[in-house]
Amino acid sequence: MEAAARGKRIGIMGGSFNPIHYGHLMLAEQIRTQYALDKIIFIPVGIAAHKANNLKETRTERFRMTALAIESNPFFEVSDYELKREAVSYSVETVRDLRKSLDASDSLYFITGADAIILLDSWYHSKELSQYVTFVAATRPGVDTEEFEAKIQVLREKLDAKIEMCFIPALAISSTDIRTRVQEGKSIKYLLPESVEAYIYEKGLYRV
Ligand code: ATP
Ligand code: MG
Repeated sequence: MEAAARGKRIGIMGGSFNPIHYGHLMLAEQIRTQYALDKIIFIPVGIAAHKANNLKETRTERFRMTALAIESNPFFEVSDYELKREAVSYSVETVRDLRKSLDASDSLYFITGADAIILLDSWYHSKELSQYVTFVAATRPGVDTEEFEAKIQVLREKLDAKIEMCFIPALAISSTDIRTRVQEGKSIKYLLPESVEAYIYEKGLYRV
């Protein structure tokens, strides 16, 4: 008799990726292996509800940088799903649509850093989103671990959400810091893949 097919385990890694850096890549790879995920889909946000910077104007560049960064990992892919849409991107809508293309036995793992998950309550339709995914929230430098745990517990109860807390090596790298460094003429080498660094200089990104 044939063994019952195991559903696919798919990670979703959302972000501005402005630019993508080793903090994102390391986080995704750690979660992929810890949770035995079959693949991780990187989904650059199109227009973010919470961010004021020019994410819409940099859509093409952010997609390209993400594609370059994940090239060497066969388990990573990038989706332009949110970038193609004209409206503000909401994770609940993206995930609702993604679910339609999956089998009922497939499971989704929504990967975030600590700073992002603690705002979950303010995300659009967060309770509905919580029905579709298991959140995997990783530590991030700058967020106190005890406070992080306490906030996650509140969110679990309030939203009836499945949120798993995860420890990963601390990398105090952020896109904001990288943009500032470029603007100030400081080095960004070893903070992100060389292909992405070269792209930033070639296109003259973040100079002003
Ligand atoms: P920005 O400074 O522009 O906000 P960022 O570096 O925070 O950029 P985002 O695109 O906002 O990157 O983050 C996408 C996701 O990756 C978020 O869930 C965030 O918490 C997580 N993340 C980003 N950098 C790290 C890091 N160094 N360690 C752990 N998680 C991270
Ligand atoms: Mg951020």
